[in-house]
Amino acid sequence: MPYDRYGRYDCDVLVIGAGIVGLSAAYAVTRAAPGTRVTVLEKERGPALHQTGRNSGVIHSGIYYRPGSLKARYAVRGAAEMVKFCAEYGIAHEVTGKLIVATERAELPRLHALVQRGRENGIPVRELGPAQIAEYEPKIRGLAAIQVATTGVCDFGASRRSSRRA
Ligand SMILES: Cc1cc2nc3c(=O)[nH]c(=O)nc-3n(C[C@H](O)[C@H](O)[C@H](O)COP(=O)(O)OP(=O)(O)OC[C@H]3O[C@@H](n4cnc5c(N)ncnc54)[C@H](O)[C@@H]3O)c2cc1C
Repeated sequence: MPYDRYGRYDCDVLVIGAGIVGLSAAYAVTRAAPGTRVTVLEKERGPALHQTGRNSGVIHSGIYYRPGSLKARYAVRGAAEMVKFCAEYGIAHEVTGKLIVATERAELPRLHALVQRGRENGIPVRELGPAQIAEYEPKIRGLAAIQVATTGVCDFGASRRSSRRA
């Protein structure tokens, strides 16, 4: 522990909160500037006991976000980096893809707008008709769908344990 000779605690960077944001920030600092003394403070008995350890485990593609926005750029890049991180550290994950389905005619314009948005965000999207939907996912019925290739799932709780080890 980085205590000085008077017993005072010292570090270069102090991060408060050991959720995925705090631990990713700490991880990024140690990667960018090796040797930096980074300390993460957490009020619970361990990391990821709030949102990070209790979320739905989806690696979002970024299809819904406004093209060119920071949110869209970070979501698309973050999804790819998350998959790479999981593969590197042996964290359970799968890039399953997902379907966004229109079940009523009134939803079709919004579905087409999403296809456009996905393409502008650089996300691989494919338009499916009813027969292709059934082929892809037999229990789903719809008029049209978008298959988004880059959506995945991962164990975010395990990812925070790896960013602590790294
Ligand atoms: C129900 C739900 C489902 C979700 N599903 C998904 C999903 O599928 N995919 C996805 O990408 N995102 C999802 N999210 C969003 C995602 O989980 C959050 O954006 C992310 O976990 C936020 O991380 P965080 O580190 O900011 O917060 P947290 O994980 O909440 O971490 C904050 C940490 O700070 C600590 N802390 C707070 N105050 C102090 C203090 N004063 N001193 C010390 N420590 C402190 C807390 O104890 C906690 O450990 C979901 C969120 C929710 C709520």
